[in-house]
This record gives sequence, C-alpha cells and structure tokens, in this order.
Amino acid sequence: MSIQKTLSLIKPDAVAKNVTGSVNARLEQAGLRIVAQKRFQLTKTQAEAFYKVHSDKAFYDSLCEFMSSGPIIAQVLCGEDAVAKNREVMGATNPANAEIGTIRRDFGESIEHNAVHGSDSIENAAIEIAFFFSGLEIME
Ligand code: ADP
Ligand code: MG
Repeated sequence: MSIQKTLSLIKPDAVAKNVTGSVNARLEQAGLRIVAQKRFQLTKTQAEAFYKVHSDKAFYDSLCEFMSSGPIIAQVLCGEDAVAKNREVMGATNPANAEIGTIRRDFGESIEHNAVHGSDSIENAAIEIAFFFSGLEIME
C-alpha cells in the first residue's frame, strides 16, 4: 500500500450529461482526493497524442474524434493505492460489463463513450499527469 497519484479524465459524454459532480462524489467517497482539476476541450491532435498507444486499433480515430468533441475535466487524484482504486471505482471499459455501482456502469453509454479515463499503472500515471498538468497546478 502506498500513497499514489493518478490521472482521471471525465470524458465529453459525462460532461455533456452534467454529471461531473456526481462523478467527483464517487471518487471522494472512495477515499480519493482531487488535488488538481481543470475543464477544457482537447484538439483532435492532442487527443491523438494522448491515446497514441492505441494508434494501431480500429477504434483509434473514432476515439480521438469523441475525446475532442466537447469539454472534458482533467484531474489528478491522490490517495492510498490511487491507481488501482480509481480503476475499481471506474469499472470495466465496457459499461455493460462494469460492476453495479461503478462510474462507467452508471454514467457510461457504450464501450467508447464510457464516461471516464483512469491511468492503468503508476508509470503511466506519471506520464499522463505530466501530459495535462504542471507541478504548479497540483495542490496536495
Ligand atoms: P480503459 O479506458 O478501460 O483503460 P483501453 O485503454 O483499452 O480502456 O481503451 C481506451 C479507451 O478507448 C476506452 O476507455 C474507450 O473509450 C475506447 N475503447 C476501448 N475499446 C474500444 C472498442 N472496442 N471500441 C470502441 N472504443 C473502445
Ligand atoms: Mg487504458
């Protein structure tokens, strides 16, 4: 067990549904602290850069279109085992397969429009946090 930071994104579908406060409440109820947060819209090029690990996938272009289609909330979450805990609170990639009570099950629309992103490892969390935030913006 260790105190970690992880990157969370509330995706354009959940922002459009006006459920960002509900998502944040789920994160906080799980013991995660939002230590940085901002709202903005990615360009398609920025979305492509963020998701470049998926550039060989059939869904890559559609995913990047979606992620740049409207405002998102980017946030840094901090807490005990934050990377795994956030993934647990998010639920499975496909909302249809996600556990009841998870963010994706309750707010996701489809495997692509699945409400939130969360880093999948401590190493990727550091890379993804640095993609969106400067050290000055993170207030622990
Ligand atoms: P996760 O976000 O759970 O870590 P992945 O890293 O595998 O999932 O995929 C990144 C994102 O790409 C997903 O959150 C989802 O928005 C989208 N995605 C994943 N698989 C598919 C798919 N089969 N069809 C369409 N979009 C997908
Ligand atoms: Mg992933």
